[in-house]
Amino acid sequence: MAILVLGGAGYIGSHTVDRLIERGTETVVVDSLITGHRAAVNDKAKFYKGDIADRDFMRKVFKENPAIDAVIHFAAFSVVPESMKNPLKYFDNNTSGMIKLLEVMVEAGVKKIVFSSTAATYGTPERTPIKETDPQKPINPYGESKLAMEKIMHWTDLANGIKFVALRYFNVAGAKPDGSIGEDHNPETHLLPIVLQVAAGTRAKLQIFGNDYNTPDGTNVRDYVHPFDLADAHILAVEYLEKGNDSTAFNLGSSTGFSNMEILKAARDVTKKEIPAEIAPRRGGDPDTLIAASDKARKVLGWKPQFDDIHKIIETAWKWHSTHPNGYNDK
Ligand code: UDP
Repeated sequence: MAILVLGGAGYIGSHTVDRLIERGTETVVVDSLITGHRAAVNDKAKFYKGDIADRDFMRKVFKENPAIDAVIHFAAFSVVPESMKNPLKYFDNNTSGMIKLLEVMVEAGVKKIVFSSTAATYGTPERTPIKETDPQKPINPYGESKLAMEKIMHWTDLANGIKFVALRYFNVAGAKPDGSIGEDHNPETHLLPIVLQVAAGTRAKLQIFGNDYNTPDGTNVRDYVHPFDLADAHILAVEYLEKGNDSTAFNLGSSTGFSNMEILKAARDVTKKEIPAEIAPRRGGDPDTLIAASDKARKVLGWKPQFDDIHKIIETAWKWHSTHPNGYNDK
């Protein structure tokens, strides 16, 4: 049996490929390399460069690899502010890309998919922590594009028997503990890598977007989870589908919230650097607080996150950023 990882050269995808290879699973990777990095992909994976929306290309991948039994799908755009400026890019790549992928999966008879959804599908939650059954009302196009993907999956399961697990990630942070793979977006928009770029001296200062939110210190509160733990959740989710279980969704988070100011303070502690910062206007599309109730993943999948301490998460990220101040260009 082989697993096809779409977007396997991206941040979370590359960690998942690495974990699959460590376990001895035959792994095929597809990535357009628009945002992913070839150097992030474990050498033992079979690699194809191409777009998941290109049906002929995807038909070829399935044809050449008949052992593929399940798909793990990370190949989507994920930057909230960009989605606010260019929603059609998100609906085209994320939502329409998934439709084309599913058409080819139906043809190829591959009936299992685990895919990246997001806490952004909940919008501004009515309560904290957020449960999987809580209302999904996105407040940005990124979240809306992922919610549409979940809905498309639901109907494709009923009609075509493709079983799915939607994994709703909260905020992802950290790198492989040996510092060999990590986060590298261009442009970088995420909080922790920006904080650590300032610590590493490749960026002048941090701007904290808004300090008038309805939170204890006025800055947004987020729940951080390590890509290593996310990778394990994907592998457990494939196993869950292999056992013949029904389609479902799981939240993946640590169930602990940190404000943007607290992240800055923890990063100053870990790096022992000053990290200059200033308060800037709100960025748009940011809910006050996002914290996961992740007991369903723990109970049903048996998921046990190993990185449950924000300082440990930041230490792994710092190992990557301090040795790769220019990301994969430093390889
Ligand atoms: N943020 C910030 N300054 C930055 C980047 C992000 O203050 O340079 C804030 C952002 O407004 C949000 C939090 O950090 O409150 C997490 O944002 P990020 O983009 O990392 O992840 P998201 O929550 O959008 O998935």
